[in-house]
Amino acid sequence: VHVTPLGVGEAFDPAEPNASVLVEAAGYMLLIDCGHSAVAPLWRTCPAPNDVDAVYLTHQHADHVLGLIPVLDRWAYDGRSKALAIITSQKGIIQLQALLTAGFIAWDDRSPFPIHFRTAQETTHIGPFAASFAPTIHDVPNVAIRLDHAGRSFAYSGDGRPTAQSAALYDGVDLLLHECFVPQRADDLPFHCDLPTVLTLTGAARIGLYHIKASQRPAMREAVTAHHRVFVPEACSRLVV
Ligand SMILES: [Zn+2]
Repeated sequence: VHVTPLGVGEAFDPAEPNASVLVEAAGYMLLIDCGHSAVAPLWRTCPAPNDVDAVYLTHQHADHVLGLIPVLDRWAYDGRSKALAIITSQKGIIQLQALLTAGFIAWDDRSPFPIHFRTAQETTHIGPFAASFAPTIHDVPNVAIRLDHAGRSFAYSGDGRPTAQSAALYDGVDLLLHECFVPQRADDLPFHCDLPTVLTLTGAARIGLYHIKASQRPAMREAVTAHHRVFVPEACSRLVV
């Protein structure tokens, strides 16, 4: 399993791309989240229109979904023919369809390539991956995802603080990418995670941090050096799971 984080930036980051990640196994590619500033790194990493098989969206915030309009637009422009699965919550599908309509993206039978919407609730597999899900605590509903393939496992939190269910979801994973806004405990942040809270997730063998507050990125890189399990991935680095 190969995992490529396209960025580790926060929602309003002036330099680092938004959180978004490509996960590949057995010739299948899943894009998880697609924020507005993840578009250019996605195009650099994965320029061909048929490369991505499916998209999973953890929640509907702008820094996780707005990039989908230019991405789908380019795939249509470049002659994509392959069907695309888009997986998110039931309510998220309705919001997303309204967003695509506003962006002049045809998502029904007028679409230049088939788009199949599917809820996470009804999803047990995505391509070669067994998929499982758990909610986190965020200011809009956010659902973390775990993917298992050939004895290897990867999980991605989306945004928010962990719940008992999401902490259990991460148990035994080889790599977890988790939102982490600041390096110090921040009980005043009800909907974002901090490093001490991430460190309570003892079930994950390795944890990469993203959605790091721009002003805190140097401090975060410094803070993780004390924890061998935890790191800050470079944008567009290719991680082997
Ligand atoms: Zn969010």
